[in-house]
Amino acid sequence: MSTPNTPETRPVRPISDLVGTSTGESWLARYSNSLMGVFGTPQRVLVRGQGCYVWDADGKQYLDLLGGIAVNALGHAHPFVTSVISSQLATLGHVSNFFTSPTQVALAEKLLELANAPAGSKVFFANSGTEANEAAFKLARMNTRNAGDGGARRTKIVALEGAFHGRTMGALALTAKKAYREPFAPLPAGVVHVPFGDLDALRAEVDETTQALFLEPIQGEAGVVPLPEGYLAEARRITRDVGALLIVDEVQTGVGRTGEWFAIGDSGVVPDAMSLAKGLGGGFPIGALITFGPENSALLSAGQHGTTFGGNPVATAAALATLHVIESQGVLANVRAVGDHVRSALAKLPEVAEVRGRGLLIGFDLALPGGVPGDANLAAAVVEAGLAAGFIVNAPGPRTIRLAPPLILTPDQADTFLAALPELVSRAAAALTQQLSHQEDS
Ligand SMILES: *Cc1c(COP(=O)(O)O)cnc(C)c1O
Repeated sequence: MSTPNTPETRPVRPISDLVGTSTGESWLARYSNSLMGVFGTPQRVLVRGQGCYVWDADGKQYLDLLGGIAVNALGHAHPFVTSVISSQLATLGHVSNFFTSPTQVALAEKLLELANAPAGSKVFFANSGTEANEAAFKLARMNTRNAGDGGARRTKIVALEGAFHGRTMGALALTAKKAYREPFAPLPAGVVHVPFGDLDALRAEVDETTQALFLEPIQGEAGVVPLPEGYLAEARRITRDVGALLIVDEVQTGVGRTGEWFAIGDSGVVPDAMSLAKGLGGGFPIGALITFGPENSALLSAGQHGTTFGGNPVATAAALATLHVIESQGVLANVRAVGDHVRSALAKLPEVAEVRGRGLLIGFDLALPGGVPGDANLAAAVVEAGLAAGFIVNAPGPRTIRLAPPLILTPDQADTFLAALPELVSRAAAALTQQLSHQEDS
């Protein structure tokens, strides 16, 4: 018998000892009685994962083509990541930012190296993408460049229509979607959204009063929409000309997701700051903001920002382990090869109208099957049909499917989905037309 003061000696205790086991239906009933309703009803209750597969409470297996929304970079329960996290936790789990730890320093150095950051670049660690962007928002506010020379006061931040940068008040001010923003007005002031991909609009808006421009290289939440060719380089020129910061949100696109370490990797563009999160910890929560060069890295000084958990030993160990595996196991090459394979196979399907994205961040629009009305949520019905058939995919829009699988997805695993997709679309179409005829009957 263990007492509160004598540690349990069994090395690994199954979590079911603590929470018990039950059916999916029963967990979901308890969920709705105990969890805040911000996420709607969860699609399934997941109990276990291995590689690219997860299992639900009723024992059903799924191929995970969403990877916890571009998070599970190395799939589930990766043995190396798991062992590094366990050993760090068993050695030193948390210290607060009154102290530092070897893993924190090593991860900062590794990120600066991977980002090709010039001398004097620095890293701030947070716990999520939203928090990384929140830090970037405060960084932007500190851009008072030229003010001392009698220059214009900087009060404006520019972001793009379609942008998603997070849900806290600062990050939400950067996010474009009205439905997310409007209930929470007033948001921090000064953020202007310009039409996506329109360089003339950008030139007209970014001026000497601009603190920063925020960009996603590929808008993930908007349905995997890449910036037009050349836009990023021109955005760099425009912001540099007026002394505004260029802040790149690579929360979804970074850490190998596109087949490069960062989506801006081959553009030659050096931003002023870059936010990371999602894939960075291989499933363990961590976010980071990289500031490029000494001037940007000095904008926030001691006491101006902080976090209790950010950059803790376990999270930074998890990220180091994830980066190590990506680097040493040819994962980026796999992302490029499997991503190309999936995109070209999708492009050949009559069920698919358009394919977008890079590496293993893939969005595709569904062609409208006969009999399905244009305003029906076809993509949501495909997600449902996918779950029934053992595939996890996501619908960021009513006609759009997003795939962001583990970066270790194999071509064979991808092929099981590609082979099933036509049938999933026809089942989804059948379900929608049936719903419609029921509505007409009643
Ligand atoms: C997911 C996401 C965020 C928010 O990250 P969280 O970890 O959910 O806070 C911010 N920006 C982009 C581009 C994202 O995809």
